[in-house]
Amino acid sequence: MWKCPKCGREFQKRDQSHYCGEKPQTIDEYILSQDSSRQADLRLVRQALRQALPEAEERISWSMPTYWKEHNIIHFAASKKHIGLYPGAEAVEAFQEELKDYGTDKGTIRIPYGRIDTALIERIARWCWETEHHA
Ligand SMILES: [Zn+2]
Repeated sequence: MWKCPKCGREFQKRDQSHYCGEKPQTIDEYILSQDSSRQADLRLVRQALRQALPEAEERISWSMPTYWKEHNIIHFAASKKHIGLYPGAEAVEAFQEELKDYGTDKGTIRIPYGRIDTALIERIARWCWETEHHA
């Protein structure tokens, strides 16, 4: 184990790149602040959302990576066992059938690590954009 002398977090690899500061200000910093085993999946989600929403701005809102254009369109966030995708309640309802293998709640989709369906994420994000439904 290697312990970062600056922030005190422990990692498997020496000099593991990570975010050492207080609160992430950008999506890059947010992803680097997560456990290294989760970063590849978070990058996949980010890539899918960028692809789907070229019009949107990336920012951190409510401490979550967010796609924004005049209002928040969609957020995502890393949890221990899954990535939460927050497209708003209408989107979760509209995609109910395709989401039946995932855990969902009003406005929330729980995507387990290792099961990132980028095509589905892109379709949901695009739907939010085109129908002006949002998180
Ligand atoms: Zn550190």
